[in-house]
Amino acid sequence: MTDLMSKIISLCKRRGFIFQSSEIYGGVEALWDYGPLGSLLKNNIKEEWLKRFVQKRDDIVLIDGSVLMHPDVWKASGHLEHFTDPLVECKNCHSRYRADYMADGRFVGQGKAKLKNQCPQCGGRDFTLPRQFNLMFKTFLGPVEDEAHQTYLRPETAQSMFANFSQIQESMRLKIPFGIAQIGRSFRNEITTGNFTFRSREFDIAEIEYFVKPGLDEKWFDFWVSEWEKFFLDLGLKKENLRRYEHPKKALSHYSKKTIDIEYKFPFGWSELAGIANRTDFDLKQHSKFSGRDLTYFEEDSGKKYFPYVIEPTLGIERLLLALLVDAYTEVKGGRAKRASFLLPPSLSLGRTKTTKAVKEIEILLKLDKKIAPIKVAVLPLVRNKPELVKKAREVYQLLKPYFFCQYDEPGSIGRRYRRGDEIGVLYALTIDFETLKNDDLTVRWRDTMKQERVKISDLVNFLKEKLNI
Ligand SMILES: [Zn+2]
Repeated sequence: MTDLMSKIISLCKRRGFIFQSSEIYGGVEALWDYGPLGSLLKNNIKEEWLKRFVQKRDDIVLIDGSVLMHPDVWKASGHLEHFTDPLVECKNCHSRYRADYMADGRFVGQGKAKLKNQCPQCGGRDFTLPRQFNLMFKTFLGPVEDEAHQTYLRPETAQSMFANFSQIQESMRLKIPFGIAQIGRSFRNEITTGNFTFRSREFDIAEIEYFVKPGLDEKWFDFWVSEWEKFFLDLGLKKENLRRYEHPKKALSHYSKKTIDIEYKFPFGWSELAGIANRTDFDLKQHSKFSGRDLTYFEEDSGKKYFPYVIEPTLGIERLLLALLVDAYTEVKGGRAKRASFLLPPSLSLGRTKTTKAVKEIEILLKLDKKIAPIKVAVLPLVRNKPELVKKAREVYQLLKPYFFCQYDEPGSIGRRYRRGDEIGVLYALTIDFETLKNDDLTVRWRDTMKQERVKISDLVNFLKEKLNI
């Protein structure tokens, strides 16, 4: 694991962003719990997505489909047959691996597994031949556990958008081109896990099925590739950390005419963050065939019926969250706390020894965009042992809470508290000092520049709303 990844994982655990699931029982591989800050961050990402692709557009509607569906859905979609990875097993220790992930990521091909690879667990070189392993989690509907009642946890959210295509189109009186959007839990029983939250067995997908007239699909495909990229850039990802990867024809999914991944430069290498697929009319035709329902679209102008083509931009919310953390993670070599202390009245600045120590320390700054930072404002009384300051700070805290996610932080020096905020991406730190009691104003410090200004408490809500663009 890279140094940077270790630091991010440590920060996530230490500050309540992400914990391993069931850690007190030794943890479960590839399952993660989002803590108090992580869940807020995740929620903010989802809200930005909804705002941009549903609220601000008039051609996209939102649905919330069920995780479990009729088992025939997965026959029609091709997932029962095709949603598999090649699995090999070490004959010595029985560890299982994805055949295509071995031999430095090169596909080893049928029958060649035992020649090229070494078991990372025991060093053994003798593997079974690859067999196809379906990545869907099986479960049963109702109390009888037999094949007739068997279904699957959805591995993507797309299928409920196809199965409901006609109902949504008719009830909302939508005209092509239009899209159906969904954010939802999806499940994949991954063989190879790792890289922190990157390859999880349970995750949220945000995706749009955008239905277009056949023939215009390539134009819309290009449109969605660039819309998706813009979204990432607007959330603060650096341009140089994004790139496109087009799937070679022979490696395309069974439903796809063209697929482009948007990859992010994670510390463990360029990896898929999101994808845009041209699913053609595959899904609607398949569901028509398997369900016996006519899922064609009736075009009033021409009086013709046809199966629309589907462009599907999709992204993993947790992958995006991880990319945003990686991009935002900044280390500042010593001195932010020291510099901060110079802005305080001399009687309250940090002592000489502490200052010298602070210079040597590495300070962490999480430069999350203001739209997604989990905590927007920190309220800090200059000292905790002056009841009148504490009382005033509490009042300010209560004043702001209805508008912004705030945190109230009392213990430790003011410099240390600034750093605690910087580390989790708090945008504005407000310090209530003795001047506040006289003039009813306070110091507002902006995270990225440490620039400070005095603001009247009566103007504070509007000031912050404007700064945060809320
Ligand atoms: Zn082994």
